[in-house]
Amino acid sequence: MSVRCVVRNASVFDSAAGVMRPNSTLVIEGGRFAAVTQEPISVDVAQVIDAGGRAVLPGLIDAHVHVVAASHDLVGLAMQPPSLLTAESSQILRAMLHRGFTTVRDAAGADFGLQEAVERSLFEGPRLFIAGAPISQTGGHADMRPKGVRSREMFCSCAGLGLIGAIADGVGEVRRAVREQVRNGANHIKIMAGGGISSPTDPLEGTQFSMDELRAAVEEAEAANLYALAHAYSPRAVTRAVQAGVRSIEHGNLIDEATARMMKAHGAYLVPTLSTYAALAEEGTRLGWSAAMLEKLAHVQDRGIEAVRIARAEGVPVVFGTDLLGHMHDRQSGEFDLRTVAMSPVEALQSATITAARLMRQEGRIGQIVPGAFADLLIVDGDPLQGLQMLTRPAAGIRLLMQAGRIVRSTLA
Ligand SMILES: [Zn+2]
Repeated sequence: MSVRCVVRNASVFDSAAGVMRPNSTLVIEGGRFAAVTQEPISVDVAQVIDAGGRAVLPGLIDAHVHVVAASHDLVGLAMQPPSLLTAESSQILRAMLHRGFTTVRDAAGADFGLQEAVERSLFEGPRLFIAGAPISQTGGHADMRPKGVRSREMFCSCAGLGLIGAIADGVGEVRRAVREQVRNGANHIKIMAGGGISSPTDPLEGTQFSMDELRAAVEEAEAANLYALAHAYSPRAVTRAVQAGVRSIEHGNLIDEATARMMKAHGAYLVPTLSTYAALAEEGTRLGWSAAMLEKLAHVQDRGIEAVRIARAEGVPVVFGTDLLGHMHDRQSGEFDLRTVAMSPVEALQSATITAARLMRQEGRIGQIVPGAFADLLIVDGDPLQGLQMLTRPAAGIRLLMQAGRIVRSTLA
């Protein structure tokens, strides 16, 4: 018999409609919502939670994280033993959950072992959707070999953790690299379609992979009923990726109106990651970043919020993402503050719930308080329609946190 629990006196955030539904009752059974109603309801219960009229939000979703990024030094990270990295990742995962993120989409790095460890409750963490290794061309954003290194693999690739890319050149190699990720249980395929900040040698405005290679990656993802997400900043890189069939553009800071219109026409999503630029702008010098990398950073940071405005104006769905590394993970909830400069609190909340779920093709399972969905919820102080300070200060603002029907923590009387 599954444990039944009822949450009474709840003001439920209906993420699809973007409104609060006061005086609601939630029935939770077997880790899922069994009923959500504003009508009087009588149930045989094992446990009653009185929300006291507080707002009840669906568990949050961060659609761009790297849970194995225990350090900003991605090369050093790849040389750590996987046992140590697993231990470090478990701390990152646990902290994310306690900030209210009950699901995360890992944008490369995490493997099926970490996913299973969370599923089996070996440690606390958000439900994990994984990409495995990012697919990168030679010299692309996830090719971290120092200049002059000629061997194909930088390290033994047996460990499977860290953010080192699966290097693939040509359609055949791209297909094989994607199939390897599928074989290792990927939920989505990450491809590097343009230059990046953290990589020293690829120009930010450049494009990566030929159109044939991009199409092959998407075709292989779709053959396995998966979708592809692409790292891209410039209008040219974004346009090529979307035309090849990529479902979401990660970062996308430099997009213009025409690019956003093209994304809208193809049904693509934008996943901005504003907090990582804010974090690196403050800490990059201390972390030993080169002048060239800091210059790239300054360029995209200014344009990040503008990209959110452009995407919204053109009707492109915008999803919550952060992309933080190392000790900077504690800035994850600050993404809400950065975004509400260009979107309302309701829209920011939707970007971290229903819109993220739609991107991940998990609508009805996560990001919504509806019958059949996982019983992931936050009972919070304050009115989220007015401001999201309860999420940016989660230790105090989240009064009860539930994941799949299990109370993770509670300060409710
Ligand atoms: Zn990333």
